[in-house]
Parts: sequence; structure tokens; C-alpha cells
Amino acid sequence: MAQAFFGGVHPGDMKAATNEKAIEQLAPPAQVVIPMSQHIGKPCRPVVAAGDHVKVGQLIGEPTGFVGAPIHASVSGTVTAVEPRPYSMGGNMMSVVIENDGKEELSETVKAPENPDSLTPEQMVEIVKNAGIVGMGGATFPTHIKISSGIGKVNTVIINGAECEPYITGDHRTMLERPEQIIGGAAYLARMFGVDKVHIGVELNKQNGIDALNRVIAEKKAPAEVLGLRCRYPQGAEKQLCQAVTGRQVPPGELPSAIGCAVFNINTTCAIFRAITQGMPVVKKVVTVSGSGVIDPKNLECPIGTPVSNLFDACGGLKDGTYKLIMGGPMMGLAQYTADVPVGKGTGCMLAFAGDEDQTVEHPQCIRCGRCVSVCPMHLEPLMMYQYTAKDMLDELEDAHVMDCMECGACTYICPARMHLTQMFKVGKQKLGAKKAAEKAAAEAKRAADEKKEA
Ligand code: SF4
Ligand code: SF4
Repeated sequence: MAQAFFGGVHPGDMKAATNEKAIEQLAPPAQVVIPMSQHIGKPCRPVVAAGDHVKVGQLIGEPTGFVGAPIHASVSGTVTAVEPRPYSMGGNMMSVVIENDGKEELSETVKAPENPDSLTPEQMVEIVKNAGIVGMGGATFPTHIKISSGIGKVNTVIINGAECEPYITGDHRTMLERPEQIIGGAAYLARMFGVDKVHIGVELNKQNGIDALNRVIAEKKAPAEVLGLRCRYPQGAEKQLCQAVTGRQVPPGELPSAIGCAVFNINTTCAIFRAITQGMPVVKKVVTVSGSGVIDPKNLECPIGTPVSNLFDACGGLKDGTYKLIMGGPMMGLAQYTADVPVGKGTGCMLAFAGDEDQTVEHPQCIRCGRCVSVCPMHLEPLMMYQYTAKDMLDELEDAHVMDCMECGACTYICPARMHLTQMFKVGKQKLGAKKAAEKAAAEAKRAADEKKEA
């Protein structure tokens, strides 16, 4: 068993509702709404207009900055609008709305390379870039940048099969149903980085997934090995996974590449395989739909841009008394005020709750038990960061390294007083960001004034 990392918690995994259910293809929706921001970086610019006919895999949004990934049509049909629509990150986002004609016509631009195994690393990176692949575990960082910036520096490539958040089982089902794609994608990553072997980290509550991967590795004599990991949240966070697999620790404020590691999610690895062997860009996503408010929880594969309400309908609908919707897992997901938001490349889970999960306390008081400190995998002091944020002590908050907080929610989970810790740290980071922006603007204004005086 691989070595673990500091801290973490072990919440009930709640995966039994869906971990034995095969991935179902969702009946194609009548309409998809595809947001122009599905990656870290500036939103894409739409390159289609209302009235255009589009086909599956056709480019509809192109990046506007260095950090970005193109966006493609997920159904064939007619563009009926290009306008801001509700979006899972809050507010509205420019979106391309496509009326599905049900023909699933494939774009002529979707072409399989003649001989994928003869491609150079540079050619493979270009294919990954054009396919719009991003971190599909939720991070949504453009994959081609992670690869190209890591070539020559990275000596350890890790596939993230931890899937440590409760309820989510899409990666587990992918291991069972599509192990060839994972191992094929891992082999391409090994070639791109020039490493002998790729490490696949999987928590031990997915033993049949580990077996499925090992079977394909043996059959294909693939350059990969599976490491069983002790179940511990947040094992799937990049830095913790690096430590669990290699024993090396990513320094504060640094990325895994600082210790020679690059981490890719299971479904990102499959997307790499499909892009290199079929020329297929990212147009679909596997989503776990679960929680006490869902009548028949499932794993569904749907076109990007499918309204979340369609997913719930395909699961028999929501129970009376459903009071909370979360996109993502219960530890790190984002609460949604409506099911009228679309599935994006980073959407891996939709939860609905109708039971007694909500244990919110209106005016929580810290009892200084120190548990939050003992579970923080980033070695932070959540109780102090909470006080600094609440009292606007922003210099102290920065010195407490709030920017290293990855908002994993382990401290909130363990806190017996039900303090709103993680939520407070999001606010603290925003305050700190606003303070820095104001300081920068003031410094620039002063410099401009000084230059004017000298002139
Ligand atoms: S776990 Fe909660 S109650 Fe305990 S010290 Fe941390 S914030 Fe305070
Ligand atoms: S949310 Fe932040 S402070 Fe809390 S345990 Fe996770 S990394 Fe530590």
C-alpha cells in the first residue's frame, strides 16, 4: 500500500447507491446550452452565430488567451442563440444554445490520425490542445499546457483514480467499463513525457477497478502500474496524491511539477486516448447523479451543455422536500440555486439532498478543540484563519498562508462546533485579492502621478 499524506478525514463514502450501476447514455436532450468558460483562464470567443448549422465536434468557441481550451458542439443541429445564460459558477456566462436535430452528424473536422503510434510528442500535444481537453476531475486546467510545460521537467506521471469524495463513482465505473481507454491514454502520456512507467493511484475501496486496470496492463504489457491507496480524503487532491504515490511533498505555493510530478484524472486520460486515436474532442461527460433527494441515482453520460434538470429527470426526478442541489461532491462542490444550469467539462457529480444532511448552526462558536488543525492536509491553522478573516486582519491572514488553502472542506467536516470554516476562507481569499488589487492600483496611480510631475 502506498504511503499516505498528513491530515485528512475519512467520511462515509456513500458510494453504494451508484458504484454497481453501469454508465448509461442519457437520451440526447432537445437543446444544449454550452458555456464559453469551461476551463481555468479567460472565456472562449464564440465562433458561431444564431442560425448556423453545427455538427458534433465542430469548433464553436476559440480561446482568447494563452491559458484556454477550445469548445466544440456536443450535438448536431441549429444554433438558436449566442447569449449569456445561467452557469454553475454563479451568474450568467456567454453560451451557445443548440437545438438538437437528433441526427448526431459528425463534423468533418473529427478525423482519426492515420497512425497514432507514430505521432511525435509535439504532435500529440497539439491534438490534445485542439480537442479542448481540460482537467476533467473538476480542476479544468488546460491539459496541453500541463503536458507541454512539464516535458523535460516531469519524471513521474500519475493518473488520479482516487475518487475520494463521497457519492462520486464515475471514475470507478470508467475503470470497470473502459480500462483500455485509461491504459491507452496512460501509454500516450508516458510517450509524451518520455517516462518508462505511469503510476495510477486508486483508493482500495475500488478493488475491482484496480483488478480491471491490472488485467489490461498485463494483456497489453503497458507502461503502467496501479498503486492501491488507503482511503483518506482528500487523497484525490494533486499535492496529496503526489505525496501518497511518491513520498515527495509539493512545497507551499508550488505546483506538482516543482517535485517532478504531473497528475491527470482518469477521465482526462480517456479523453486523451479518444483524441489521439479517434480525433474526438471533448463533447461528453460522465456524471454521477446521487444524494438522498434523487429517486433512482445513476451514472449518466451526456453531451456537454445538457441541462442538469435532464439528468434528474433521467433518474426518476427529485423527491418532495429536496432542499439542496450541489454540483460536485459534498466536500468541495458548489451549491446551485437552480437545476437550469448545464453540464460542463468539469462536472463529475450532481447531488440533491432531501434528508437530514444539513447540520448548519446559525451562530457557531469555536470551542478551541484543535481538530481542524489536526486534519488540515496543508498544515494550516483553520481556527486562526477564521478569526483573521472575521476581524478583517488581512496581513495576519496572509501570513497564515490562507492562499495555500485548497478549500478541501476537511476542517469544516471535522469541526464539532459546525463553524463555517471553508466558506470563510473563500471570503478571506476574496478580501485579500481585493486588497492586493487596490494596493496595485494605488501604486500605479502614484507612479503615473510622479512621472507627470517629472515631465
Ligand atoms: S475544529 Fe472547530 S471548534 Fe475545534 S478548534 Fe477548529 S474551528 Fe474551533
Ligand atoms: S479547507 Fe483549507 S484550511 Fe480547511 S482543511 Fe482544507 S486546506 Fe486546510
